[in-house]
Amino acid sequence: MQDHFGHRISYLRVSVTDRCNERCSYCMPDELQEWLPRADVLTFPETLRLIRVGAQLGIDKIRVTGGEPLTRKGVTEFLGEVTAVNGIKRVGVSTNGTLLARAGSSGSTIAEEIRAAGVDSLNISLDTLDRAVYQGVTSRDFLPRVLEGIEAAIEARFPQIKLNAVLMRGRNEDALLALIDFAGERELLLRFIELMPVSATEVLNESNFFPISAARRVIEAQLGSLIPQPDFKTSGPATYFQIPGRGQRIGFIGALTNLHFCDTCNKLRLTCDGKLRPCLGSHLEFDILKPLRAGASDDELRNFFLDVVERKPERHEFRENYQPQRRMVAIGG
Ligand code: SAM
Ligand code: SF4
Repeated sequence: MQDHFGHRISYLRVSVTDRCNERCSYCMPDELQEWLPRADVLTFPETLRLIRVGAQLGIDKIRVTGGEPLTRKGVTEFLGEVTAVNGIKRVGVSTNGTLLARAGSSGSTIAEEIRAAGVDSLNISLDTLDRAVYQGVTSRDFLPRVLEGIEAAIEARFPQIKLNAVLMRGRNEDALLALIDFAGERELLLRFIELMPVSATEVLNESNFFPISAARRVIEAQLGSLIPQPDFKTSGPATYFQIPGRGQRIGFIGALTNLHFCDTCNKLRLTCDGKLRPCLGSHLEFDILKPLRAGASDDELRNFFLDVVERKPERHEFRENYQPQRRMVAIGG
């Protein structure tokens, strides 16, 4: 699938729940949540059917996200079915890491179970190594669990584990070097992510926005000039650098300040309530749950995907006074 702007679509991010066991200030700002009614959420068989349709159109990479995807019952079995879909070559999961070290139904850790289901990459969120700051950001005192979760993921031998840290002025600007050392010691790929105006307008403001350029200056003041790695790519929009004198690479995801951020976009999103979204930073979304439940054929669903790709915008609208309408948890990060 290719849109008018030359974006080749091969990557589908699938949110399987809007629920979460944390309350990150930038994602789910309110403690009192109204969850989507179960009946409005795609069942796993429905989601699988849409993944199969996507795979027939050239989707070869799936990332399962949420909310917190590992809170949904049956997700391990679902992941096993996703990895078995014809044409799907890579399956990743985005997680806050809190449940990875828990024992799953087989008695192994959940990390081991999802690795055994064929998941090959994990993105784990970790904004700070300071327990009080972690609690301040997420409203939960779960840092020790996350650290255990990361060790469980390492033990489960995922081919790729990335750590993602959202940059927040006044919260974690002094945590960058500790995060770099933590990732380096474990040979994990760390990326710093700019805050995006999703979920609610107050999520991003002038006082908490900490651009990747400023993060880079903080890092370079301590570690020397970062060495660009233009040929090193993962499946998303991060740009990577090597730390001088170390083999370690780190990445930056500058959705707001990198003006070329959207040039190589290869993604569609499927929300947990069955909307196909061509872009995280645009209000466009198309209800595929309705035709799916009304008995649409595979051919009709394929045409639905193609129509959504036709409407994919050239770039996101985050820099144009974008007003969020749906919470990030519901869209799927
Ligand atoms: N619960 C999982 C987690 O925390 O990784 C998966 C879902 S979460 C919505 C996916 C990613 O989106 C996380 O790395 C999170 O930090 C990021 N995210 C959420 N809200 C954001 C925002 N306003 N700006 C930038 N990144 C955000
Ligand atoms: Fe939950 Fe992830 Fe959102 Fe935090 S970023 S509230 S962990 S979905």
